[in-house]
Amino acid sequence: MDFQFTDEQTARRKEFFQVCSELEELKPAEFVGFEALYNFDSCWEYDRRCAKEFAKRGWLALHWPAEYGGSGAMMDRVLFSEARGYHGIPGVDVFGVGMLAPTLLAAASEEVKREFLPPIAAAEVTWCELWSEPNAGSDLASLTATAMKKGDEYIINGQKTWTTGAHKADWGFGVFKSDPEARSHHNLSFLLFDMKTPGITVRPLLYMNGETIYNEVYFDDVRVPAKNIVGQENEGWAVVNTLAGFERSNIDQIMGMVRGLETLVAYCNETKRNGQPLAKDSVIRNRLAQTACDIEAARSLAYRVADLQNRNEMSLMDASALKVFASDLGERLAFLATDILGPYGQVKFSRWAPMNGQWESLYHECFVFTISMGTNEIQKNIIAWYGLGLPRMK
Ligand SMILES: Cc1cc2nc3c(=O)[nH]c(=O)nc-3n(C[C@H](O)[C@H](O)[C@H](O)COP(=O)(O)OP(=O)(O)OC[C@H]3O[C@@H](n4cnc5c(N)ncnc54)[C@H](O)[C@@H]3O)c2cc1C
Repeated sequence: MDFQFTDEQTARRKEFFQVCSELEELKPAEFVGFEALYNFDSCWEYDRRCAKEFAKRGWLALHWPAEYGGSGAMMDRVLFSEARGYHGIPGVDVFGVGMLAPTLLAAASEEVKREFLPPIAAAEVTWCELWSEPNAGSDLASLTATAMKKGDEYIINGQKTWTTGAHKADWGFGVFKSDPEARSHHNLSFLLFDMKTPGITVRPLLYMNGETIYNEVYFDDVRVPAKNIVGQENEGWAVVNTLAGFERSNIDQIMGMVRGLETLVAYCNETKRNGQPLAKDSVIRNRLAQTACDIEAARSLAYRVADLQNRNEMSLMDASALKVFASDLGERLAFLATDILGPYGQVKFSRWAPMNGQWESLYHECFVFTISMGTNEIQKNIIAWYGLGLPRMK
């Protein structure tokens, strides 16, 4: 791919960064780490405010085909994500805008696209993803929640878990067993449903500190219109794979690291230990430089994945490779920062917390990215099988 931006892209990038920089000025002080979104009303309101601002500018549908209100420019979406990631701005529903919309464009009927895409572009609804179950995570195809067709409805029963933000979301997309007799991977259907439908119960999974991000969701004879199916009945596995590719290829996280590293470098330049700036310590310099190289590599990989997506040439391996590399790098960066900061790195919401406590958040959040969106071990299997053609292990 050509890594050089066109003049038009450079101008668009500047505009994205300008707007995100202005929105950063309005960010609530308690918005530190992604968990804050679900735990402070002020942060949720800020998220919705940013979403409306982006919707007004058409930025939630940037890469959509023109007939659905977009410009078809995948690179614009990447540049916008970069700006948001760098300034740490929410406002793009990772489930609705990031995952579901491109999946609908790729796999849904015209009727479903016409009904569900406009509210996503207008930031009128938020979504959650209901895939995992207590006994089906990595091996998702072994899930047991059912959606049985009866007339012009599906009746859903069963339990999902680890549903991020289900306590806030308006709508959900989920995968269910729709033919218990059919062979594995050809027995699942992908459905869209209003989270307020009678029979859906959301139970928050409380953190030790009382915060909530994830939930258990119970379905008890939940009736969903049959027209809300994405793809064909019993062929939901193909839809799952399409969505997973979009789920694993976000660049915002990488740009968050670019900003994080900049802040860390500034801290090392300004902070003296034993009479010397930290930036003169050869071990620290070495690790900062290595991290800078790794972040640049992750960024290039993300551009490449976006370019492949744009040309409809992305393989399962490309998104998996980016996901593994970026999530491992997120961990290394968090470890580096906490090594440099020492005990102060464990403090948040305190005058003793360097850099507004962002590293405390990143340190305890960084592990989740190696698990969510399919664990890194599973991604490595995908790379081995589909990318390198290695045999499957028994
Ligand atoms: C922060 C976070 C947010 C999440 N949000 C959502 C959400 O919104 N919606 C949703 O549906 N789910 C969500 N999940 C669930 C997530 O998708 C699952 O946790 C993940 O797929 C792993 O499944 P599991 O937890 O059941 O672990 P398991 O599948 O039980 O795996 C346990 C361990 O065994 C390893 N392992 C399993 N099988 C293999 C294999 N074949 N080869 C090598 N190693 C293997 C795994 O890598 C892992 O280390 C979220 C999880 C996290 C951590």
